[in-house]
Amino acid sequence: MIVHQMLVGHMANFNYLIGDPETRTAAIIDPAWQPDHLLAEADRLGLTITHILNTHCHHDHVEANGPIKEATGATIHIHEEEFRYLAHFEPPPGDVSMSDGDTIQIGQLTLHWMHTPGHSPGSSSIRVNDAVFVGDTLFVNSIGRTNFPGSEPADMFASIQKLKALPDTTTIYPGHDYGPTQQSTIGEQKQLNPFWQPESLEAFMVLAQPDNDQIER
Ligand SMILES: [Zn+2]
Repeated sequence: MIVHQMLVGHMANFNYLIGDPETRTAAIIDPAWQPDHLLAEADRLGLTITHILNTHCHHDHVEANGPIKEATGATIHIHEEEFRYLAHFEPPPGDVSMSDGDTIQIGQLTLHWMHTPGHSPGSSSIRVNDAVFVGDTLFVNSIGRTNFPGSEPADMFASIQKLKALPDTTTIYPGHDYGPTQQSTIGEQKQLNPFWQPESLEAFMVLAQPDNDQIER
């Protein structure tokens, strides 16, 4: 599997190319900035982008869907909870509405769609082999904000438990470069992420208060 991490835009967004080394086809995750650069990187790696995967519909994760689709003809995938919201951004709308447990085939790679709401109602993570791409559900040693319209801290707690159930060796690829490292593992986050320590929803809710400034994020 080819995983290419790209730091783009002025909000420290990470975009990813996930490529199949056999067929040289690839998915791109969350294109929002510098579409020409993203396309050039795919070219440089000899990859053809066939799928655009949006972990959620915030503008800094979707705004380059249009130019990438126009250049490649790739299909746009987003969770059903946010499928309709894509219409609020620049065209085009989404092509495929995704649900928890759905899979996407990229050459010989099988991508597993995980619904991990909390930051937003349709926030999703994409698992493939021993890697998981988590959007804004998780940052290295932190989590995405849960005080936006559509955020739900209790859902975030449930999503954290879902991610914790993945093997400890799973590599985590976050949606922003907000942590001390650019990637982590499930096992590391179990030890290092303060938001992953509470074992009850009550304890998590205290920690995740929007005005809790003990922990920067
Ligand atoms: Zn977001």
